[in-house]
Amino acid sequence: MSTNENGEQKPRVPVLEGWFTHTDDKPHLLGTQCKGCGTYYFPKQTSYCKNPACDSEHFEVVELSRTGKVWSFTNACYQPPEPFVSPDPFVPYTIAAVELEKEKMIVLGQVISGVDVSDLKAGMEMELVLDTLFEDASSQKITWKWQPVANAQNSKGAKP
Ligand SMILES: [Zn+2]
Repeated sequence: MSTNENGEQKPRVPVLEGWFTHTDDKPHLLGTQCKGCGTYYFPKQTSYCKNPACDSEHFEVVELSRTGKVWSFTNACYQPPEPFVSPDPFVPYTIAAVELEKEKMIVLGQVISGVDVSDLKAGMEMELVLDTLFEDASSQKITWKWQPVANAQNSKGAKP
């Protein structure tokens, strides 16, 4: 499944380049922070600050907190809009809105497989992991997902 026709491990390639770090087992989402007012943005904001009280056009790319608390969650039974990439055919999954530990901003993400809405509750601690979204003939496409911290303590969690 994860090997190519020659039996070699397929390379892991981010579905979206520049949206997250993927060089170790502690992935971070990459956002930007306004140098004027300190507001964090994800996805990255680089042209102008959305804060009406701020006229800065300078942003710094930052690694965002990789932990946070569940704010809301739902079953995604529809294909998400661009730029989110979905497996084809589409498989329904659980999606969580997580408030990042430090930035207090809400980041949506798919929840790792095996966790459904009945396993989640508001305020639950989550951490960012990388997981295969789908694969084609040459590579595995990886993206970020949310994993309950309790799951990570009980098992190895999603495979790095
Ligand atoms: Zn600003």
